[in-house]
Amino acid sequence: MTQSVRVRFAPSPTGFFHLGGARTALFDWLFARHHGGKFILRIEDTDRGRYHPDALPDLLGSLRWLGLQWDEGPDVGGSYGPYFQSDRAPLYQEHAERLIEEGKAYRCYCSPERLAAMREEQRATGRKPGYDGHCRELSQAQVAEYEASGIRPVVRLAVPKEGQTIFEDRLRGRIAVDNTELDDLVLLKSDGFPTYHLAVVVDDHLMEISHVLRGDEWLSSAPAHVLLYQAFGWPMPELVHLPVILDPSGKGKLSKRKVRGPGEVERLTFIHEFRAAGYLPEAMVNFLALVGWAYDAEREYFTRDELVQLFDLDRVSRSPSAFSYEKLDHMNAVYIRGLGDNDLATRIQQVLLGAGLDADFLTVLQFAPLVKERMRTLSDCIDMLGFAFSDSLDYEASLLIPKKSDEQGALAILMRTSEAVGQVEPFSHGAIEDTMRALSDSLGLKPRDMLGAVRVAITGRTVSPPLFESMEILGRERVQARIAGAIERLAKG
Ligand code: GLU
Repeated sequence: MTQSVRVRFAPSPTGFFHLGGARTALFDWLFARHHGGKFILRIEDTDRGRYHPDALPDLLGSLRWLGLQWDEGPDVGGSYGPYFQSDRAPLYQEHAERLIEEGKAYRCYCSPERLAAMREEQRATGRKPGYDGHCRELSQAQVAEYEASGIRPVVRLAVPKEGQTIFEDRLRGRIAVDNTELDDLVLLKSDGFPTYHLAVVVDDHLMEISHVLRGDEWLSSAPAHVLLYQAFGWPMPELVHLPVILDPSGKGKLSKRKVRGPGEVERLTFIHEFRAAGYLPEAMVNFLALVGWAYDAEREYFTRDELVQLFDLDRVSRSPSAFSYEKLDHMNAVYIRGLGDNDLATRIQQVLLGAGLDADFLTVLQFAPLVKERMRTLSDCIDMLGFAFSDSLDYEASLLIPKKSDEQGALAILMRTSEAVGQVEPFSHGAIEDTMRALSDSLGLKPRDMLGAVRVAITGRTVSPPLFESMEILGRERVQARIAGAIERLAKG
């Protein structure tokens, strides 16, 4: 590639950053990194009506969490700024003015009432909706009259009345549209703010964007952009419209809102939700890379560096791909299993602290290998390990009673266990296990039945990380205190 690669991600801050946006940003970033180019973040905030104040911090935080650091844009600056479109209004006005002077655009004074009546008539007579060109050839006198009446005009592009607009999309090939199909689109609104079309073309040109990778939903805007490039006499960037992401059923588009899965479960769509739910950013990146891109028919696991090295537009699919939450969960579990104990413990500790548990690192580090194989997301650790960081366990006394036994039986188990725990030396999981198994023999119980009661006493749960290891980590005193607590609970219950 001779020209230097400059790719932009250009979100509008209208809501929280969602899966679709993250997939586009990731492909932009991978493409830029693969070619040693620049990844630019531009904030398209000219639609003040849809502006959402929480969107920008959410976007920046999510991009950073995913590791998609931008080279130019908010917070980092760059020599092609400003990177907020709301700070670039004079540039758009200047460019609209230039097109007016060259006769390629015109001021339109039509009132909303006139436009509504026009649309109504088009509908009633079965004609194609679109601006009828009323202001396209106004005389000087008419313009003067409108201006004098104080109407604030919009600026429209004068779309050629004949011919075709032809362009190439990297994935879809050559696309030709009859110009009669295209409307004289508004470039500048009456408040002086640009429309998306004018702003995106002016900015992509001034920022020397070489490749426009964006969602397929923008393909229908591309002919208008091509006309604008032609009107300005600018070279086109390469256009790449990425395939749509479908919901898990494969039937509908993955919505920006909540997705309802089988059984009407609310599924996550915003990146901050995945983060809070304990997905690893590296798993998210690997997973999102496969939404519309594949290296080959088999391979699914890639590190970030491998993705940068292998990412290639020729392997981006043309067809929509369905989002699979099951696949993401599976991949996240695999990534968790692949973490070193220290790394996993650091992440788990954060989650536990975030859940208000007083989790010290050393204890977490001891538990990390015990839970690693069982976790699907990091937040599973709250349920799995909460017992280790809070001495007030919450469980029903009835859970302490083994099947086919009774309160007396449970009390016997707990008292004998307490004695045994007091004597076992060293207080290591191996020695604890031997002692407990010998005890179940002497009580004439199946180890499973006896240990079930002990597990509930120690962890408050019927399912827990390996019991003897957990007892060793908790230490003799805490274990004895918990057994005493269980005995008390039985006595009360
Ligand atoms: N501002 C548009 C959006 O919110 C960007 C479209 C484009 O990339 O050209 O998605």
